[in-house]
Amino acid sequence: MRYCSTRGGVQGWDFRQVLFSGYASDGGMFMPETIPTLPPETLRSWAPLSYSKLVYEVCSLFIPEELIPRRDLEGLISDALSTFAVPGVVSIAKLKDGLSVLELFHGETFAFKDLAMTCTVRFLEYFLQKESSRATILVGTSGDTGGAAICSARGLRGVDVVVVFPRGRITPVQEKQMTTNLDDNIHVFAADGTSDDIDVPLRRLFADQDLVRQNGLMSLNSVNMARILVQLAHFLYAYLQLSGVEKTRPGDSLPVLEVVVPTGGAGNIAAGCILKHMGVPLRLVAMVNSNDIVCRAVQSGDFSMATSVKQTLAPAIDIQDPYNMERVLWLLSGKNGALVKQMLEEFQRSHRLPLPEALYKELSSVMSSGSVCDEGIVEAMRRCWEENHYLVCPHTAVAIWHHYHTPPRPGENRCCIATASPAKFQAAVQKAGLTLELPEALRALESKATRYTDLEVGEDWEARLRECIEAIGSARASGLCFYSADKRC
Ligand SMILES: *Cc1c(COP(=O)(O)O)cnc(C)c1O
Repeated sequence: MRYCSTRGGVQGWDFRQVLFSGYASDGGMFMPETIPTLPPETLRSWAPLSYSKLVYEVCSLFIPEELIPRRDLEGLISDALSTFAVPGVVSIAKLKDGLSVLELFHGETFAFKDLAMTCTVRFLEYFLQKESSRATILVGTSGDTGGAAICSARGLRGVDVVVVFPRGRITPVQEKQMTTNLDDNIHVFAADGTSDDIDVPLRRLFADQDLVRQNGLMSLNSVNMARILVQLAHFLYAYLQLSGVEKTRPGDSLPVLEVVVPTGGAGNIAAGCILKHMGVPLRLVAMVNSNDIVCRAVQSGDFSMATSVKQTLAPAIDIQDPYNMERVLWLLSGKNGALVKQMLEEFQRSHRLPLPEALYKELSSVMSSGSVCDEGIVEAMRRCWEENHYLVCPHTAVAIWHHYHTPPRPGENRCCIATASPAKFQAAVQKAGLTLELPEALRALESKATRYTDLEVGEDWEARLRECIEAIGSARASGLCFYSADKRC
């Protein structure tokens, strides 16, 4: 199994190299060079498997045994998923009118990012230990990524995590999930600015090849291919649990499952597209909030940024640049690296990209999309509560909205993905006129000691962060070279 860049300039990389990389050196994103198919017999035989076992099966397809022997891989995944709050790691709620919700938020930070992040961090730690080396993960976060990275890496020997969050611009729960970690390998900065302000010093630090090399500096956002691979398992689990595939017999055609995905950076929907490409009959629906670039691309071929990010009740998907769409476009263009390079370079230059007709046709046949404003989010949260006494987070609500406005096709089941717990997004819950008792784990955060460093306006953030990264480096033996051209955090 080898990996290549979506822009055609890098080929033949192995899983380990890709795991430690962000963007490829040609500016593209890594994808598997060949995508395996899952025959119907395999799908039928996997129907009884647990979620954890499916993560293992999926990873086995993409991580060669020579790099991680199977026994080790199994151990890493089961360790990674051992801390989740429900026995099955994920769970499915079956609600009124054929509404099934796949709850992916039973990890420590109450959002789906925990699932792939814990596995990815274990894979990193595995290689680092084998090579007696270390890495420093630098993450700028606008909410959930920082907490997931911290909770996944806390106490591990080979990795340090440096997180910068925009003070006062994330929810109190998100903030506490980061600042209450007192472990020596966790370093949290609270910057007095926006995510975009934070992006500037981080880009400069990642562009400093000496700093990157000397400190094994890397990023862990969903540019990282390993996170996307682990996420294939959500879609596979949903399919096996909800499509009715177990009732089919050899020779029958496979049933279709519609999976509705709250979409921001499009990592999840990219994973869904890969799985569909592998032969799993999914009907994908990418649902967004008022930041609707994905919706415009799918509905009319207009992949162009709006002038600014709109702040909505679903902040984790307030995204201008759904960067994982590059992976989707590569797949749908028949792995045409030259075309993707030309298109995405144009998009980066002008922030506009009218999709070529054939690609637009392909995209709109592989997925549909819809956009939901704040009123719609509130309406879906309320209706779901009234009909089921089931509270959803504002991101999940964009998927639920689709359910309430588009009936499922006859004979086809539907699964809405729940990306976070409503407990993490109290303000939206209140806006919807609902109330929610905080889970004990979140209430306990309030009284916990915190540790973080402020970055004030007027200070040199880049210098402060560099100081921290270098201090970590000199405190531990450094050595391994990582390439990371990662600009985005
Ligand atoms: C990150 C996030 C999303 C968006 O996921 P993508 O894979 O980037 O599209 C949706 N909902 C929540 C709660 C998130 O944290």
